[in-house]
Amino acid sequence: MNFQKITERIYYLPATEETDRPILGYIKGTKHSLMLDAGNSPAHVALYNAAREEMGFQTPDYVAITHWHWDHTYGMCAVEGKVIAHELTNQQLKIMASWKWTEEAMAERLQTGEEIEFCDNCIRLEYKDPGQIRVKTADITFNGAITIDLGDIHCELIHIGGPHSKDSVAVYIPEEKVLFIGDAEGPDYYHNDGKYDKNKLQKFMEDLQEIDFEIYMMGHGTPDTKENTIKYLEEEISKLS
Ligand SMILES: [Zn+2]
Repeated sequence: MNFQKITERIYYLPATEETDRPILGYIKGTKHSLMLDAGNSPAHVALYNAAREEMGFQTPDYVAITHWHWDHTYGMCAVEGKVIAHELTNQQLKIMASWKWTEEAMAERLQTGEEIEFCDNCIRLEYKDPGQIRVKTADITFNGAITIDLGDIHCELIHIGGPHSKDSVAVYIPEEKVLFIGDAEGPDYYHNDGKYDKNKLQKFMEDLQEIDFEIYMMGHGTPDTKENTIKYLEEEISKLS
């Protein structure tokens, strides 16, 4: 699988559905580069690195995490760059780092609702032996927002929250007017049965309108325009009571 180009300095490895692998971004500065999300496993990171080397791009110095969900974070044990996550994301990573991966412990988490069936299934497809899972915490944490200077290009990590997960972070690259949103736009499958909370979706849309971007990149999607995104969200909001 190859990197897809968004702009001259921004690329991504496409998402795949079988084991719910999200897109993994690459933002290329003149001094440093940044990986967007850590993927769902060391195998996913290896695929990313092969595609990156094919382009002749350097190893990312930083890895920005969009939210705590396994598919975006369980590759953290295999990345080389410093991992940057929101304080809330890191709190959940700390909890997951203590999880046991025995059949018994996995079944119990499904019982308590700590884990959901969709993810449990995908984890079992991604890992022949879930006992090999190693969850790590971040190297750098922040609250609110943090800006990383990659050299002539900046990544602004903005805590946007939204309907999907309260820790969601958007990564905005002002020089290219690109916004990586992770899964922030989606509904919450852990606490709201995969249904939208109207107020959260409305607030999320208003927050998006404030950001001066042209290309919108979802965690499991392909590039879209701001116009399409706002139009879609307005329609979704109008369907909710
Ligand atoms: Zn998610």
